[in-house]
Amino acid sequence: MNYVDKIREVSDLEFHQNHDLTGFTTMRLSSVGDLIEVRTVAALQKLLPILKSHSKKYLVVGWGANQILPAQCDDLIIHLDFLFDQNDLSELRDEYVLPASIGLNHLTALAVRFGLKGWDVFTGIPASLGGAIFMNAGTNLGEIGSLIKSVQLVTSDGILRDEVINSRSFSYRHNHFVGPGEVIVGATLIHHGTDTAISQKIKDYLEYRKKTQPLATKNCGCVFKNPYKEFQAGRLIDLMGLKGLSVGGLRVSPKHANFIENSGNSNWDQFESLVNIIKSNMDHFYGIEFELEVKIPYH
Ligand SMILES: Cc1cc2nc3c(=O)[nH]c(=O)nc-3n(C[C@H](O)[C@H](O)[C@H](O)COP(=O)(O)OP(=O)(O)OC[C@H]3O[C@@H](n4cnc5c(N)ncnc54)[C@H](O)[C@@H]3O)c2cc1C
Repeated sequence: MNYVDKIREVSDLEFHQNHDLTGFTTMRLSSVGDLIEVRTVAALQKLLPILKSHSKKYLVVGWGANQILPAQCDDLIIHLDFLFDQNDLSELRDEYVLPASIGLNHLTALAVRFGLKGWDVFTGIPASLGGAIFMNAGTNLGEIGSLIKSVQLVTSDGILRDEVINSRSFSYRHNHFVGPGEVIVGATLIHHGTDTAISQKIKDYLEYRKKTQPLATKNCGCVFKNPYKEFQAGRLIDLMGLKGLSVGGLRVSPKHANFIENSGNSNWDQFESLVNIIKSNMDHFYGIEFELEVKIPYH
């Protein structure tokens, strides 16, 4: 039996061949490939060993807010869409056990409601919980890693494992525990008590983000990592006069130079060309090699 037939026998997942994946990333570059929507952890535990035994490569896409996909995806795209009882977010608890597919926006709504201290650190970040943990997403208020007590993962052999988080589990925009082929399926989050001022702090920070980032456009967040803490990539690109630079329907955002906006119908090749122009300017003017923050499969 080939792997597609085996996958089709697993319940609680859907296999879509040659699917339009354009809507699976916030950048919306045109992309097509095979997609698997997974509804339960048990289904994922059956799926991954099938893929392993057929040496089929796969890639997890959360909200696709930090990834871009090529025009034709050769790897299978796995998208988690776990069922979740909203009542689990209706009361104040010391800790929350949450599925990886939940959006951080739901957690921010909870933080505003109860004034959860510490949960302001991910204000306004478009992400699934799994993607945010994988990236150790954060703002200048802090990083999500500081709130994670443990992470539940499924290995490529289909085994469910629990990772207890310690001070070495995360660094800047990195985790140090997700192994090759492993998928984050959930996490236990803590908070640092409650404070009525948190709600206002989150609202103010959202306003600040609206003013400083092109949130209404199609983009993938910050394209480059800051080369040093005191050297913001966006500021360096701005100083080179590259704001507004465009290739096809893509341009360096006039609002924040570390964002690339897609006005529609753009593709991977155009993105790569624009990124390469910025990189060679950085190298030429500052002698700095820019590293990508956005995840580009096959790179
Ligand atoms: C407008 C905008 C603003 C942004 N602002 C910020 C910001 O302030 N701070 C910040 O840190 N980021 C920011 N980002 C980037 C992005 O929101 C974060 O990197 C976020 O963590 C990505 O989450 P995601 O669910 O979209 O993950 P994806 O982009 O889908 O995936 C990111 C990586 O995580 C892996 N992954 C995703 N889910 C899982 C899983 N369940 N198990 C294993 N691996 C997984 C993917 O394979 C990929 O390698 C911004 C993006 C946009 C578009």
